[in-house]
Amino acid sequence: MDPEEFRAAAHELVDWIADLRQSVPQLPVQSQVKPGEVAGGLTTTAPEMPEAFGDVLRDLEQVIVPGITQTQHPAYFGWFPSNSSLASVLGDFASSGLGALGITWQSAPALTEVEQVVTEWLRELCGLDPQWAGAIQDTASTGTLVALIAARERASALSEHEGGLQSMDKPLVVYTSPHAHSSVPKAVLLAGYGADNLRYVDVDPVTYAMRPEALREAMTQDIAEGRTPAAVIAAVGTTGTAAMDPVAAIVEVANEFGVWVHVDAAMAGSAMLLPECRHLFEGVDGADSLVWNPHKWLGTILDCSLLYVRDVDHLVNCMSTTPPYLRSAADAEVVQYKDWGIPLGRRFRALKLWFHLRLDGVESLRARLRRDLANAQWLAEQVRAKPQWQVLAPVDLQTVCVRHEPVGISAEDLDAHTLAWVDAINASGAAFVSPSVLDGRWMVRVSIGAEATEHADVAALWELMKEIVKQA
Ligand SMILES: *Cc1c(COP(=O)(O)O)cnc(C)c1O
Repeated sequence: MDPEEFRAAAHELVDWIADLRQSVPQLPVQSQVKPGEVAGGLTTTAPEMPEAFGDVLRDLEQVIVPGITQTQHPAYFGWFPSNSSLASVLGDFASSGLGALGITWQSAPALTEVEQVVTEWLRELCGLDPQWAGAIQDTASTGTLVALIAARERASALSEHEGGLQSMDKPLVVYTSPHAHSSVPKAVLLAGYGADNLRYVDVDPVTYAMRPEALREAMTQDIAEGRTPAAVIAAVGTTGTAAMDPVAAIVEVANEFGVWVHVDAAMAGSAMLLPECRHLFEGVDGADSLVWNPHKWLGTILDCSLLYVRDVDHLVNCMSTTPPYLRSAADAEVVQYKDWGIPLGRRFRALKLWFHLRLDGVESLRARLRRDLANAQWLAEQVRAKPQWQVLAPVDLQTVCVRHEPVGISAEDLDAHTLAWVDAINASGAAFVSPSVLDGRWMVRVSIGAEATEHADVAALWELMKEIVKQA
């Protein structure tokens, strides 16, 4: 494809995207395809000869779109807000168009320096201390893995450069909330700590936030039994209920034991942009690492996760490799992001964040987050006021956990009833919510925060919920 062919096709594609975004409210929220249906709609062998762009666009329209659950839909209340603001789409497009290779500063100085600038913008917007330095990772899962490797190397005095964990005489232990995201136990396993050395610390039965006292007890016991506490992951905005682990108190306990604190605020981190929510993150400046995803609620299209650390030198000691072919004369003066994480080659991800913030402006982002917080409070009030309906956890942010509990129903029937009405909502295509388990019972999470979701959409969801439980 030459630039002139690209110009024609790209104009068509941009029109197509704009039309698609306008038509999203008319699409079913949950993809209605059956397993294998999308693959079945495609040819089984790669084309030997070039195809017309129109043919590709037609398949995009007819085969691909039906196979997408519409997270940009105003009635999308599933897992977490997965916004993809059009301003950030432009940045992503520009990034692909530039075709830059990010392996060292030298390979694309702008790729590194825009990233330094935007991570610094966001540090400041989040009210974080200047001692933090950030880099963009693909996902929070990677950020948490990198943090746990750095924690492991701090607790083992950079053992990776010698015998590694296999040379340690005491096991290193990691602590987190039982409500932490699944990426946390995964990172504990992948970083080599082993499942036996992961402790789930008790949470408060009402708030579902970690109890710092329980953390202290667990660490004390591990030490008494010959193990070394190495890291604690505070879940700030847990996956089930968006519970906020108390970071300040966790940092205080961790400091007594010299333990690394990683804050996983992947979903909730966007709320740090709101001064009135900042108290929920109190103490975060005392942590060692922090991950949050602009690619969720804030709306910078996937993949855009921010990992901040306070001790960059330590991170670089864990992650750096300098083979001769990557050396350059500028090394002493520049940041080499290859040494801040796992991959060598990086995309120009900073561009979508830069476009997003510049074209939408921070004030409109704050207004949208505030709208979502207000919608969540409104829904929680309706649910609490309605007989047989329960709000199951505090609503600090935009996640409302609910259950409809018909009088006299048995525990098993209640689970079946909950799953039945969730499935009915999702199968209808009119809205999308996700079920989860809390204290051993199924419940429904209404996660408010799609860019398009207005109050009327939340009100329509509540009407649908009340209607559909009668049939479930
Ligand atoms: C979504 C989420 C993650 C995982 O994020 P990815 O970027 O998809 O890896 C981790 N932790 C929390 C609290 C989350 O909400």
